[in-house]
Amino acid sequence: MPELPEVETIARTLAGEVESRLIQAVEVLDESAVEPEAEAFSALVLGRRIARVDRRGKLLLLHLQAGGGKDGGVVAVHLRMTGRVLALPLGENPVRPRVVLTLSDRGGGALQLVFSDVRRFGRMHAFAPGVGPGSIERWPFYQNLGPEPLGMTAGEFRERLAPHGKKSKARLKALLLDQSVLAGIGNIYADEALFRAGIRPDAVAGAVSARRLDRLFAAIQAVLAQAIAENGSSIRDYRDAFGNAGAFQNSFRAYGRAGQPCLECAAPMRSIRVAGRTSTYCQRCQTS
Ligand SMILES: [Zn+2]
Repeated sequence: MPELPEVETIARTLAGEVESRLIQAVEVLDESAVEPEAEAFSALVLGRRIARVDRRGKLLLLHLQAGGGKDGGVVAVHLRMTGRVLALPLGENPVRPRVVLTLSDRGGGALQLVFSDVRRFGRMHAFAPGVGPGSIERWPFYQNLGPEPLGMTAGEFRERLAPHGKKSKARLKALLLDQSVLAGIGNIYADEALFRAGIRPDAVAGAVSARRLDRLFAAIQAVLAQAIAENGSSIRDYRDAFGNAGAFQNSFRAYGRAGQPCLECAAPMRSIRVAGRTSTYCQRCQTS
């Protein structure tokens, strides 16, 4: 499942290809891939220009521009399990496309922006401009997103995970995965950061010292920055906008390594379930 570094990589690779192009045609091949329904979705995006591509949490955002340079709303792509967004030359046949946007020629040929998704859990949501009804600002999922882990301080991080004066009984990993606490972290980067910080995934957040929470925050930032630099992790389906795989899977120290020797101490890595997710950790190197 694409997490913050993968979506960041898609946004960066896509931006150079699609920014400033006009959406000339909209083809919805799978009705369940879009919100609102196909006709309303098309009306919101057709004829708009893609002004900017970026990311919020695990959402890929296409910021649109209407005539006269006015705000044209936003398309938010939620990739979920197996979603991909690719920029392909017009005429190339994409694999299992669900939505195809034909983009104008900017010099060098027209393009198609293809949303494909084998498992079909992903969505493309189109939103109206501004901040009123139908805009992204009124979308509860978007409103509830927590801060970006690469855009906050250690103090803010501690306050969100273990609020001062409250003894949080939640497990640390459950909080890291909760998109309303922090936006963008999933199973891979939670396991990797906890391993690097030496903290068990099932540690009770309120019982972890401030010093160790600071270490976890530093590990989260370092792991995310390294993964972005390596274009994300490709385990199964993730690819960037050119169809290229990432390389951070070669740097995994915890995720998916249950039963294999710990890279620090050689003890076999263990797995437990925390917040309904398989979590891999070292019983010697990681403590509560
Ligand atoms: Zn170990």
